[in-house]
Amino acid sequence: MTAELDILDLKDRILAGERRALARAVTLVESSRADHRAQAAALLDALRGHGREALRIGLSGTPGVGKSTFIEAFGMMLTDAGLRVAVLAVDPSSARSGGSILGDKTRMEQLSRVPSAFIRPSPSQASLGGVARRTRAAVSLCEAAGFDVVLIETVGVGQSETMVAEMCDLFVLLLAPAGGDELQGVKRGIMEIADLILVNKADGDLRATATRTVADYAGALRLLRKRPQDPEGFPKALAVSAVEGAGIETAWAEMQNLAQWRREAGIWEETRATQAAHWFETELREGLLARLREDQTIRAAIETRARDVAEGKISPDAAAAEILGKMAP
Ligand code: GDP
Repeated sequence: MTAELDILDLKDRILAGERRALARAVTLVESSRADHRAQAAALLDALRGHGREALRIGLSGTPGVGKSTFIEAFGMMLTDAGLRVAVLAVDPSSARSGGSILGDKTRMEQLSRVPSAFIRPSPSQASLGGVARRTRAAVSLCEAAGFDVVLIETVGVGQSETMVAEMCDLFVLLLAPAGGDELQGVKRGIMEIADLILVNKADGDLRATATRTVADYAGALRLLRKRPQDPEGFPKALAVSAVEGAGIETAWAEMQNLAQWRREAGIWEETRATQAAHWFETELREGLLARLREDQTIRAAIETRARDVAEGKISPDAAAAEILGKMAP
């Protein structure tokens, strides 16, 4: 069987919503082998325009806050309601250290057994750019396979949140109940990209603290400048208990309200268009850099100039101009 026939077969099976075909395709887009890259590109091309637009939800939170417990409860609720749910993890730690925060334990055991759910751990890639590219491709594949909701989960460290927010329709931040002092510890940038803050573990001894934490965040959110992409009352803070399943339905209702409002206000389309433009630029920039580095001499010059810039021997602008000057016309 030729590679092309293979791809066409894979395409049909993905469009039919076959999970195994989807898993194979995600493996294909994650591969860095040149022949796989070519096949992946052909597959994505063949799938373009097919499938549906899923609701893409970004979910972030520090390790231990309850992400997998929440996704399990949330995912079960959605699949029980007849929706198909994909969960894609983005774990920058696996790129940096080889170890992973999200992948070490068996996660979402119950949800992973549901036929209408698809769970995929983080690709282990050397760069955040690589992970971003693979994750975007995986989202497209899930949409082609007819998933209604695609959850993109990430840990609350580094730049991965911003990257995930750039590929989602909604961004949810999961937080733990905490005293007022810790409120300041949440980086302002993250508050600004969150559409919904869920304070988890609002149960047992932690219930009262969780309620106070929600009030603190609600207050902090009111101080933020009103964003054009929000209806009245958003971004919002709510209390949930992933373990008890409390507040999960309300959280979903709020996500749907926000999504609906954004669709009607034309913001949904606009955001997706802006995101596509952003990724186009990112790809161009990274592609150009990679192209530059293919040349041994240029690569060596980049390394030398990077050191010189750090030591203040040359300005960043002059060094960049010099390197660009070496590029073939
Ligand atoms: P993750 O690292 O963010 O994926 O967090 P996990 O989902 O693995 O949860 C970390 C710990 O917090 C586990 O021991 C969970 O049982 C616990 N946990 C998660 N959600 C809740 C909750 O709603 N209430 C309470 N009390 N504990 C929770």
